[in-house]
Amino acid sequence: MQYKKYEEREEIVFIIDDVIEVRIEKNIYKSYRKKYDDKEIISFCPYKKILNKITKRRLYYITKEIPLIGHNAFGIIDRGTNLIQVRPCTGCNLNCIFCSVDEGKSKTRVTDYIIDIDYLINKFEEIADFKRKYCKNVAIEAHIDGQGEPFIYPYIEKLIKRLHNIADIVSVQTNGTLLSKDLIKKLENYLDRINLSINSLDDGKAKFLAGENTYNLKHVIEIAKEIASSQIDLLIAPVWLPGYNDDDIKKIVEFGKKIGAGKKWKAFGIQKYIKHKFGRKPKGIKAMNFKTFYRKLQEIGKELKLYPKDFGIVKCKSLPKKFRVGEKLRLKIEMFGRLNNEMLAIARGRIIQIINTNKKIGDIVNAKILRNKHNIYVAEEIT
Ligand code: SF4
Repeated sequence: MQYKKYEEREEIVFIIDDVIEVRIEKNIYKSYRKKYDDKEIISFCPYKKILNKITKRRLYYITKEIPLIGHNAFGIIDRGTNLIQVRPCTGCNLNCIFCSVDEGKSKTRVTDYIIDIDYLINKFEEIADFKRKYCKNVAIEAHIDGQGEPFIYPYIEKLIKRLHNIADIVSVQTNGTLLSKDLIKKLENYLDRINLSINSLDDGKAKFLAGENTYNLKHVIEIAKEIASSQIDLLIAPVWLPGYNDDDIKKIVEFGKKIGAGKKWKAFGIQKYIKHKFGRKPKGIKAMNFKTFYRKLQEIGKELKLYPKDFGIVKCKSLPKKFRVGEKLRLKIEMFGRLNNEMLAIARGRIIQIINTNKKIGDIVNAKILRNKHNIYVAEEIT
């Protein structure tokens, strides 16, 4: 564990691995310090606050007591194919004006999660083994993504290297801002593809869309070139925001072709902007319907429409579901949820999100399962 320590007026603050911020009141720290060293205090003192240093939200460090299946913001998601989504943490260093999960400086997200790397790897291996039993001769892909920027995960390099030993393909989504040429070199023999989001090649507009004045387009362009000239495949993935970056999409495609994106897979993954209930909506935006979106994509290039087969994605038996929609349960609230008025419970080895609740940690609730698609469980309280 690497940490920095400093004092504030009333608290001692530890910053662990550049992301985890642990705060302990000075008088509590002093009494613990008589018996324990700093590492012991960080690990075992129950009177501490843990925050994500980047987002300043409450942070849970997820260890084996908490299931990794059941939530869509962290853990592992199996959508019944040979691609397994790995979500090591939440939180983002940008605040994109269109972000579907309202990441960065958020009005709606109140909790972050970060998963212990050994636990995450063990679980991934277990799921990859399960998949291999049912899908013979199919490449298993570990796709690192999340509700946030995966490269804020402090153990991302280790995670990619260890996933490489288990999965046949390892890919990651990123906004590119936290990558460096050095890191790309280190990952070259372990990572197969980087899906890089670039939404404009105009510096001012790119900053505006990223919702962050420090966004450095020049750096991201350099990173794109570096990836394209490495062993790692580059897929450029802009979000098409009608009225905002219509002219940029063509330029991004020209840029990607020029630098050699898509050596092995498709070079572009242009995404249609979709309004999400708890996502950000750029002022005045009118989302395209799919018909218009695909027509406009065709006008730029025939190869831009994507199909699962472009990435070798095939159906593969899903992990067993543990709850039926409509099933009634008695659950204990264990943790804060990602949104206000959302709390988390644990049952049958799954996380369950209980929405629209005012209950507190430790409370027992009667709940009904509303959703179980892909083993992501949402429930509501019932009387
Ligand atoms: S980089 Fe991605 S996760 Fe981060 S704010 Fe932008 S869209 Fe959201």
